[in-house]
Amino acid sequence: MEIKREPVSSSDFRVRQLRARDLLRGDLDGDDLERYVEERVLTTTVQKAVAWAQGNSIYPLTFGLACCAIEQIHIVASRVDIARFGWEAFRASPRQADLIILAGRVSIKMAPIIRRLYDQMLEPRWAISMGACCSSMGVYNNYALVPADKFMPIDVHVPGCPPRPEALLHGILRLRAKIQGHAPEGWRERYDAVGTEELLPVEAPATSADINVYQPGDTAGA
Ligand code: SF4
Repeated sequence: MEIKREPVSSSDFRVRQLRARDLLRGDLDGDDLERYVEERVLTTTVQKAVAWAQGNSIYPLTFGLACCAIEQIHIVASRVDIARFGWEAFRASPRQADLIILAGRVSIKMAPIIRRLYDQMLEPRWAISMGACCSSMGVYNNYALVPADKFMPIDVHVPGCPPRPEALLHGILRLRAKIQGHAPEGWRERYDAVGTEELLPVEAPATSADINVYQPGDTAGA
């Protein structure tokens, strides 16, 4: 269905009003009735309507862990402006929030507190892991930190150190698509991959034309 935006004059309103009256009186029939319904009626399911509303009215928790939080704060400013998608009302209490953005590194001491906040949030609830630290411990790959997937479910991972606000916005739009039930395919589906490994096409055996290529176990050139 194509949606057209056209300037409307006050006389158009009057015409529409009269046609609506005709419809209610049962005076429209045949082609006129078909056209009227086609132009004005949109059908959907309750589930789709609810998912559409949920995806456009997320209440994120006011929460930041480290340097990534500065980039997270930026998304409500005018340049990125997530108010366009209805995600700008950051809540101060987990009991009023349905999204937590883990922006920064998570220490082992902090993990149970984050899990507790997550458990206090409204259902259905979602989580975004923002930045390399939170997803994989990043540059601080040491005993004091823990990746978020180890202690709570994460819906979207946003890579980068730090991810730019635009990257977080991309993650937010991916999550919105997921909530609304039309999530884009993950890379595993796109590249036919299993686990963390891509299944690469079988390579043709090396020929004599290949220069400086050694087969596995060939130590002649070592
Ligand atoms: S990913 Fe980079 S910017 Fe984000 S918390 Fe870690 S070190 Fe800081």
